[in-house]
Amino acid sequence: MFKLSKKIQALPPYLFLEIDKAKRSARAEGRDIIDLGVGDPDQPTPAHVIEKLYHAAQDPATHRYALDQGMPVLRQAIADWYKNRFGVELNPEEEILPLIGSKEGIAHFPLAYLNNGDYALVPDPCYPPYKGGTILAGGRPYLMPLTAGNGFLPDLKRIPRTMLKKAKLLYINYPNNPTAACADKDFYLGVIDFAKKNKLIVISDLAYSEMSYDGYRPPSFLELAGARDVAIEFHSLSKTYNMTGWRIGWACGNAQLIFALAKIKSNIDSGIFSALQLAGIAALLGPAQHVLDMRRLYQDRRDCLVAGLRSLGWEIDPPKATFYAWLKVPKIRPRAQGLRDSIAFSSLLLKKADLVVTPGVGFGKYGEGYIRMALTVPKERIEEAVGRLREII
Ligand SMILES: *Cc1c(COP(=O)(O)O)cnc(C)c1O
Repeated sequence: MFKLSKKIQALPPYLFLEIDKAKRSARAEGRDIIDLGVGDPDQPTPAHVIEKLYHAAQDPATHRYALDQGMPVLRQAIADWYKNRFGVELNPEEEILPLIGSKEGIAHFPLAYLNNGDYALVPDPCYPPYKGGTILAGGRPYLMPLTAGNGFLPDLKRIPRTMLKKAKLLYINYPNNPTAACADKDFYLGVIDFAKKNKLIVISDLAYSEMSYDGYRPPSFLELAGARDVAIEFHSLSKTYNMTGWRIGWACGNAQLIFALAKIKSNIDSGIFSALQLAGIAALLGPAQHVLDMRRLYQDRRDCLVAGLRSLGWEIDPPKATFYAWLKVPKIRPRAQGLRDSIAFSSLLLKKADLVVTPGVGFGKYGEGYIRMALTVPKERIEEAVGRLREII
C-alpha cells in the first residue's frame, strides 16, 4: 500500500538475515554456539570510564540538550589524543566534530556533497554504511574491488576516466574491515595525489588504528602532507575502549568538510549525552595500559587461531591489525563439495559445527569466496572452534 522510496529500494539487501535467524534458532535449541561473526569486543569498557559516566550522570547539568557540536573539553581531548598518537595537530573548534558513533557521521556525510546521481568510489568488500550512506543521499556507489592480488587496496588506475568526472567521494578504510589489510604511507600519498587531480573528497575510516600487533602502528591519513586539503577522517571509541554500545566517535580533518557535516547533523540530532562526552574524555586520556592489554589479548587469540587453522592446512597470513581473519573458503571434503560460495559455507559451519562466521559476500560481491572470523571469543573457544572445524574440512 505504501510505496518505499527509490533510495530505500536501492539499498543492498541485508545478507546476514538468514544466518542471524539460523543463529537465533540454534541458540534457542540450546546448542553451544561459538560466535565468530560479530565485530564487537567481548571485553568490558574500562572501569574508570564507567565510573566517570556514573558520576557525571548525577550532575543535572549533563541532563540537557548538548547543542554545542561536542563539548569544547571533549574536542580538546580528541586533539590531544591525535597529537600524541599521530603527531597531527588539529584545531579543536574547526577541525574536530564529535559524533554519536562514527557510523552516524559516515552515513550522514554524503548528504553534504552528493547530488542525485553523483558517484562515490567505494571499496568492495566494505563496511556497509559506505554504500548505504551514499545511496540514502541519492548517490550511487562505484565499486572498487579489493583483491588479494592488490593487497586489498583499491587499484585507482583502473577507475574509468568517465567515472572520475561523476565521482565526488572516495572511501578508504585501513586497517580494513573485513579484510584486515593495512595501508602504508606510499599508498596514502597516491590517494592524496589522485584526489587532488580528480577533485575528490577522501573519507578515511580509522576505527581500527589501535588494534594492531607485532609492534605495527597504523598511521592516520592526516599524517601525510596535503591530506588535510582533501580529507575527513572518522575515528571512534568503540573498538579501542570496548565502547560499541555507548555510541561515541568523531570526525576530524578539513575544516570545510567538518563544517558541512556539522550542518547536516544540526538538522538531524541534538548532540551526545553530556555525561557520555565526559566519560569519553576519561577513556581518551585514561591509562595507556588498557590499550596495551587489549592488543596483547587479541594478538594472543590471533596467534591461537592462525596456528589452529594452519594445522588444518588452511592458508592464512596473520593479520597485522583489526580483530578479523579474512579467509578463503576452503576446498572441502567430497561429501560437501560444491559449497565454494561464502553463504553456503557459513551455513554449513553453523549446521555442522555450531560455528558462526560471516560470509564475505555480505560485505559486497567481491567478498565472495571468503569468510570473516572475528577474534571476539576467549582463546579456549577459538581452540574449540578449530577442533570442530577439523571434523568437517
Ligand atoms: C566498528 C567500525 C566502526 C565504528 O563504528 P561506531 O559507529 O563508531 O561504533 C567504523 N568503521 C568500521 C569499518 C568499523 O568496523
